[in-house]
Amino acid sequence: MKKITLLFLIFCLGCEQSVTTDSTFGIVIHGGAGTILRANMTLETEAAYRKVLEEAIQVGHLILKKGGSSQEAVEKTIHVMEDSPLFNAGKGAVLNANETIELDASFMDGAQLDAGAISGVKTIKNPISAAIMVMKNSPHVMLSGAGADAFAALKGLEIVEPEYFFTERRINSLKRVKESELKKNKTSSLETSFIRQQRYGTVGCVALDLKGNLAAGTSTGGMTNKKWNRIGDAPIIGAGTYANNATCAISATGWGEFFIRSVVAHDISALIEYKGHSIQEAAHIVIHDKVGGLGGNGGVIGIDHKGNVAMEMNTPGMYRAHMDADGNLKVKIYKDE
Ligand code: ASP
Repeated sequence: MKKITLLFLIFCLGCEQSVTTDSTFGIVIHGGAGTILRANMTLETEAAYRKVLEEAIQVGHLILKKGGSSQEAVEKTIHVMEDSPLFNAGKGAVLNANETIELDASFMDGAQLDAGAISGVKTIKNPISAAIMVMKNSPHVMLSGAGADAFAALKGLEIVEPEYFFTERRINSLKRVKESELKKNKTSSLETSFIRQQRYGTVGCVALDLKGNLAAGTSTGGMTNKKWNRIGDAPIIGAGTYANNATCAISATGWGEFFIRSVVAHDISALIEYKGHSIQEAAHIVIHDKVGGLGGNGGVIGIDHKGNVAMEMNTPGMYRAHMDADGNLKVKIYKDE
């Protein structure tokens, strides 16, 4: 009898140990990638970005620390960046060629491989919540345009006048892009707008919670001067956003057309799943060889089921931050930091 009790105790100790080793959590965010150069930044602007990045990641980290879900952490963290006029998501989003603002967002839950997305919406204050609402409260994965706006209103999400999203800075960016397009009509408009935009600002968040569940979300206004209801990679599951508990959670930012063609977020997951690459190796291959190989640029953030992270870019900078379970925080802007 004593022997059985002893064996049971040893077994329980073993269980306890494995729970402790597996229980970790972490969160990574981005606020867009692009030609972010020290030469073009003032100390004040830099500090303003770092402050919001830190505020945003602290919100998600606290949720995870208290045992909250990766879904809630991603949603609430992205709200902070959507509400800040600094980023190209929610308030402060870029203008399209018709001088209106059309927002895209997506979310994926790595536990169920469940997902939701919205594109081209004009009145939803926090588009990431609408993407989550589509996932949880509709039989669909992606809703677009006026239908998506109507769905969000029906479900009680906060609705605002389209003017809420406008900022002086983005109105001026559109003017500049349009002027330069007139001068250089040889270059395609999207290419011009990509090159002219010194800073991007799409936002994204990936998180691993204490239960081992991964989640990813991305929210954006797309690209300045976009035309014909253009949709980028951000609301496309597998391109701008992907999460799978067996592999990783990814959110992308950059020149969306190339990210769609390279199926960036899912490709990183597939390299981990089928080739056994680490998240850093997989992100490096996809950003530099695949997207870069086609002539595109941008970056990704990712976290795997063990809490390893990747923050990879082929641009001079990407607004980003990472916080691990011990509360170690890194906030970075430039590639060489
Ligand atoms: N990927 C976004 C888009 O193409 C833009 C960005 O990330 O800045 O719509």
